[in-house]
Amino acid sequence: MKLVDAHVHLSDAEYAGHIEELIADAKTANVSALITNSMDLKTCQNDVKLTQQYPNLVYAALGIHPWNVNVLKEGELEKTVSFIKEQRSLVTAIGEIGLDYKYETIWEKQMMVFDRMLHLAEELGVPVIIHSRGTTDKIVEMLPSYRLKRVLLHWFSHPMSALLKAIENDYYITEGPPVTYSKGIRDVVENTPLTHLLTETDGPVAYWKQPFNGQLTKPSFIQNVVAAIAELKKMQIEEVAQQIASNFEVFFGVKLT
Ligand SMILES: [Zn+2]
Repeated sequence: MKLVDAHVHLSDAEYAGHIEELIADAKTANVSALITNSMDLKTCQNDVKLTQQYPNLVYAALGIHPWNVNVLKEGELEKTVSFIKEQRSLVTAIGEIGLDYKYETIWEKQMMVFDRMLHLAEELGVPVIIHSRGTTDKIVEMLPSYRLKRVLLHWFSHPMSALLKAIENDYYITEGPPVTYSKGIRDVVENTPLTHLLTETDGPVAYWKQPFNGQLTKPSFIQNVVAAIAELKKMQIEEVAQQIASNFEVFFGVKLT
């Protein structure tokens, strides 16, 4: 059985000093691929190093996260774009990018950076991984005007109308540990065809409900996520894992080893 973590932040400061432990945990838990998502130029650079250190296991999604738009240094946007272009052969996706309603005061700057990242994805011909807290309707409405290879809406929570539109547009959804306890996320999974679903941890985000209890988020949490999806879909865990592994290969154009 092959499991996948399609959204994690291995270069986050909270994971410093834990990478070897996380990689060992992934291997023990049959997690065959991890997509490490960048937040800014520094994490882009580190994520590229991780893909070189752990080939055929760690893959990079590079980009600028909406939370970092506010603290972008002079020239950092263009430097990041150039860096991503230079690393094209190691770029599996552009992510994590998007819009967040909590940063409404810098809405125009968020839009400018998001638009730049979407154009970069068009230019490189790679998929995008999207953060859309409180902005899903807006994002689902604006994406069709770009020529994007594939779209992944990460930690999709609401509204259901945007979910239906996203699936109609052939977008994929990732869900993580909250599928084991959150009614809203369980509803999303029930309404998403298994062919359009991927699994994630979004580590180092911590989960406080059982069985996670706030411990360091690890790739092996994917086992709990897949088991919860299997229960909701009334399928065998192996069947669900196999379909999600196949979705991963199709979505990212990566062959799992
Ligand atoms: Zn994330």
